[in-house]
Amino acid sequence: MNNQQIDCGCDTTPQPLLSIDEALELLINSVQITNSTQLLELHNALNKILAVDVQASICVPGFDNSAMDGYAINLQEEQINISGGTTFKITDRIPAGSTGNTLASGCAARLFTGAPIPKGANTVVMQEECELIENESRIEIYQPITLNENIRPMGNDIQSGDVILSRGKQLQPQDIALAASVGVGKFKVFNKIKVGVFFTGDELIEPGKSLKQGQIFNSNRYALVALLDKLDCEVINLGNIKDTLGATCQALEKLKSSCDLIITTGGVSVGEEDHVKPAVEKLGQLGLWRIKMKPGKPLAFGSIGNCAFIGLPGNPVSVMVTFLLLARPFIKKMQGASNYLNTTFKVTANFDWHKAKLRREFVRVRLDRTVIPMQVNQYPKQGSDVLSSMVWADGLVEIPEKRTFKQGEILNFYPLNEMML
Ligand code: AMP
Ligand code: MG
Repeated sequence: MNNQQIDCGCDTTPQPLLSIDEALELLINSVQITNSTQLLELHNALNKILAVDVQASICVPGFDNSAMDGYAINLQEEQINISGGTTFKITDRIPAGSTGNTLASGCAARLFTGAPIPKGANTVVMQEECELIENESRIEIYQPITLNENIRPMGNDIQSGDVILSRGKQLQPQDIALAASVGVGKFKVFNKIKVGVFFTGDELIEPGKSLKQGQIFNSNRYALVALLDKLDCEVINLGNIKDTLGATCQALEKLKSSCDLIITTGGVSVGEEDHVKPAVEKLGQLGLWRIKMKPGKPLAFGSIGNCAFIGLPGNPVSVMVTFLLLARPFIKKMQGASNYLNTTFKVTANFDWHKAKLRREFVRVRLDRTVIPMQVNQYPKQGSDVLSSMVWADGLVEIPEKRTFKQGEILNFYPLNEMML
């Protein structure tokens, strides 16, 4: 739990109409990054977020070593670049893990990849370019030989004192490997944040039970918990809560002291069945935002004590889209990640957009990677209740507000797979 007050921008006018960029900025600026950390062994640290910079206390490689199986040679100046057979007496053998003796002028040491370059040696010739002669006591080399070939110099990869990984990095296999290569055995990482969730709507029934007239299955519960699992959050799930002010307040009370963040779905409109708004207002502070985005217009943001609160809309596509575009960057920043913003790339629309809209629209599309530049096709039904569109799509394209365009328009594409890492 964080011990700082949360500023949710709630002093603004009631229900401000915000662009998604303004909403995201307000959210991001109010995040209190978790200060709870732990030390983890390397093999337990995958996907965790680094809480401190990792600095190397050694050079890598730690000594000049051979990049090849071959022969280290103490090349005399007159032997440089001579073409034709030059011969060297083999005086040493150095496997990786051992050290050789000082190499005398005009001599060669048999050595293997990773073996230290012996004192006196100034180049390595790969074994494929050497011929063993005189009962394998000498090598003959036909190619011209140059200085400093096939030697990996000390510190070529990392210098002692280098910051090799920065605070806020989400640890990938290569990061863990790099830390191991400088001998770091443990990482200081941020702990999981605790996210309390519950779901409003008296029409909701759990999958597996039978539906009565007017009821629907609760899909948001499974979407939200899975999205939070993907983000490595610790989820405290209260399930469905009755659509009353009392039950909503009780659920919030239950979660507020043990959670860093509470997320709910539904009940954030201003209908008389929407109790989330008055409940959060009663216990903490709340801004109810109308965001100029489609799907997903209403979004509640506030705090109860030290616990942040995000109330997502009710419609299933709106839940996923607002979570991915707004809640996800908020959560990632809270977790300590430095790369918390979603990234996009450019694609071209394989459709016309005839009607200018007031709200920025996030259209579920599928990418056609077989053409250059890549094109996107839209799912035919784009309603905020059409969950099939999310399953069909591999991303969202951003349609700017107040615009029409023809096929070929360049748009921002948000890949779903990247947003669900
Ligand atoms: P609300 O914002 O509560 O008015 O909900 C908007 C729409 O989303 C209504 O049609 C609800 O039935 C639907 N909805 C709300 N919660 C869920 C849920 N957990 N799963 C599926 N649909 C929901
Ligand atoms: Mg409702």
